[in-house]
Amino acid sequence: MSATVYKNFIGGESIASRAGKTFERRNPADTREVVGVFQESDAEDVDAAVRAAKAAFPAWSGVPAPQRGEILLRAAEIIQSRKDRYSRDLTREMGKPLFEAGGDIVEAIGMAQYAGSEGRRMHGVTTPSELPNKFQMSIRQPIGVVGLITPWNFPMAIAAWKMLPALVCGNTVVIKPGEDAAISTYNLVECLVEAGLPPGVVNIITGHGPGAGQPLVEHPDVPVISFTGSTATGRLVYELAARQLKRVSLELGGKNPLIVMPDADIDLVMQGVVWAAFGTTGQRCTATSRLIVHREVAGPLVARIIARARSLRVGNGLDAETEMGPLVNATQLERVLGYIELGQQEGATLGCGGGRLRDGDLAHGHFMQPTVFTGVRPTMRIAREEIFGPVLSVIEVDSLDEAVAVANDVAYGLSASIYTRDINAAFRAMLGLQSGIVYINAPTIGAEIHLPFGGVKATGNGHREAGPTMLDVFSEWKSVYIDYSGSLQRAQIDNIA
Ligand code: NDP
Repeated sequence: MSATVYKNFIGGESIASRAGKTFERRNPADTREVVGVFQESDAEDVDAAVRAAKAAFPAWSGVPAPQRGEILLRAAEIIQSRKDRYSRDLTREMGKPLFEAGGDIVEAIGMAQYAGSEGRRMHGVTTPSELPNKFQMSIRQPIGVVGLITPWNFPMAIAAWKMLPALVCGNTVVIKPGEDAAISTYNLVECLVEAGLPPGVVNIITGHGPGAGQPLVEHPDVPVISFTGSTATGRLVYELAARQLKRVSLELGGKNPLIVMPDADIDLVMQGVVWAAFGTTGQRCTATSRLIVHREVAGPLVARIIARARSLRVGNGLDAETEMGPLVNATQLERVLGYIELGQQEGATLGCGGGRLRDGDLAHGHFMQPTVFTGVRPTMRIAREEIFGPVLSVIEVDSLDEAVAVANDVAYGLSASIYTRDINAAFRAMLGLQSGIVYINAPTIGAEIHLPFGGVKATGNGHREAGPTMLDVFSEWKSVYIDYSGSLQRAQIDNIA
């Protein structure tokens, strides 16, 4: 069976790249299968997409926000009706097991509902004036063409997190999805179009980062860039966009700590750690990659984690039995295996895993064992750098203060967690941890769309997605003063006694 060819989606039409170049995406669980053929776009293709988005902006921004929201709400229902098919597409393109792929789709549905209903709120602030016969309020306005650059690890959820708030505000969009998982973006946009989104309001450009992403960042008619990806690429995007004073939102890497105090429920911790370290094969920005455990309970806890990690069923995500899928591509597999070697050179002990899996059908995919390093010191690179694979580093500590200090002593600050039944310890950690998200008695993954999402330090540049903050990067505030006194009233002068 020949693979589907996905063309760029520009102005409501499917259009091949002008240079006629394409690239294939293969299933990471079985590289014999081509899951799709995509356009390898360049600056000219990006320009065509931006022009289509710019042309669509006046009409779309003029649609009343509740009506824009209605389209998102209808799209939510359409996505829901196709959840199983879209989950399979997602598993085939990036590898996560079907049950996790379903979660990715559900997140997009939730965001479509949340952002759709925002069309009926979009609250501004109205305050009393300090002068008589004067009224004042603030309103949100759309900005224009928004450029979205997304990674492959949550291919539908992250696209939805960015696109849907941008749309409900009245912006138009050009999205460049990660080259390893573009199908889910097409699926999301297909639903929006069927729900009534006019042509040109969302445009999809596929291709590689430097060839297709960078021209979007640099395009003068794209005043807003929302980017999720690695810190290295995010820094470059920020620098390039700064030259044109663009508004940029960056969601970047993490090195997320999970702290365990001696009074924690050890079985609960084991379950949480295994889920958060090895779910999505460790390829979540919020994955638990450091277990910072009080020495008193380290032995029994780590033994249980290792036993469970060894029993995880690794395989093709389409198989209902699979608990952990492959790495996303060969480069990522090599990178993670490089960290396994490095960890051993640095003096850490390989508690379990560490190897590539090649038995039977696994030989055709990018599979590796869930891995636990023990005896890790906070100064080691495996304790400081984002590995983005199924690798957990165990660091032992003697106190809560030491645990929080170790947790904070990295460049990143996305998500952090503590397991304890001591309310005082929980509050001290909650306030002391340098991260955008904190969990108490739950692992570092599991964010919901109703609260702000994002991190501090090298994880971002201060913006938050989702929650009540989701509109901030996609809208401009306008403050409006209406003086109906019929006379000149000078603020801060005429009203001062
Ligand atoms: P990358 O930074 O490699 O890529 C992210 C996106 O940027 C992709 O679409 C990529 O295209 C594109 N890109 C690459 N180079 C450029 C460039 N020069 N100009 C413009 N765009 C470019 O990250 P990954 O896709 O590998 O994703 C994994 C990383 O993302 C991890 O570090 C992870 O922590 C982070 N991440 C952060 C999240 C958060 O919310 N904080 C959530 C999810 C992931 P292409 O795919 O073609 O290379």
